Amino acid sequence: MSNLGFQTLYQILNAHDDVVCERAFLPEPEDLQEYRNTQTPLFSLESQKPLSSFDILAFSISFENDFLNVLTLLELAHIPSESHLRNEKYPWVIAGGVAVFLNPEPMSQFVDLFILGEAEEVIEEFLEVCRQTLSKKGKREKDEFLRNLGRVEGVYVPTFYRVTYTEAGKIRAMNPEPGFPRKVKRRWVPKLDQFPAQSTLFTPDTEFKEMALVEVNRGCPRGCRFCAACFVTILSETEASPCLNRFQGKLF
Ligand code: SF4
Repeated sequence: MSNLGFQTLYQILNAHDDVVCERAFLPEPEDLQEYRNTQTPLFSLESQKPLSSFDILAFSISFENDFLNVLTLLELAHIPSESHLRNEKYPWVIAGGVAVFLNPEPMSQFVDLFILGEAEEVIEEFLEVCRQTLSKKGKREKDEFLRNLGRVEGVYVPTFYRVTYTEAGKIRAMNPEPGFPRKVKRRWVPKLDQFPAQSTLFTPDTEFKEMALVEVNRGCPRGCRFCAACFVTILSETEASPCLNRFQGKLF
């Protein structure tokens, strides 16, 4: 609940008159069995509507450990977990956040579309495609939605990539359908001042209760080689200094 990335997007999305963004979380462990026993579909905190009634389900995934929790959330929402089993009747499932930014592949069977990089930079293009796709037909045309968004820089739609394997099970090649990039470039915000990130939700039971959080830096300049916090936010080799320069000087 206290994650500033998630709160910033929540704020940006709800600032649009034609967008409603609501929250849903994995229930506490002691409540999980109750959801399953009663077959209560998971619902949003704001309007308490079942998640399956929304047009889009967007997961913010910061840690690899949450990959399995995404599958549990889909199960509790009574939504098929595998992407190819979800037709127009179900919400489009998208994911972003540092864990998929680092490597979306473990979730590529389950997520329709990934936003790689900093979503603030992509969000207006994303919303424009959503408006066009939803308003034109009045229903969720999944293939059209994915084809249009798959051409937006920073968006990765796994279904348009064909992966072939060697006999040993290693990836031999990953070829996109015509019109989609061979290499998806992540998006980043060149000037963080454009999107000030600060707490917008205050609740009594969170890790940072009774605190107002403000983002003063993104990533970490210390550059420990084993840690993703620095590497995922390197903008370019020149901009990476002192972070990357330090690795080149001392470690490589
Ligand atoms: S471990 Fe990561 S977050 Fe911590 S100081 Fe090193 S680079 Fe920064």
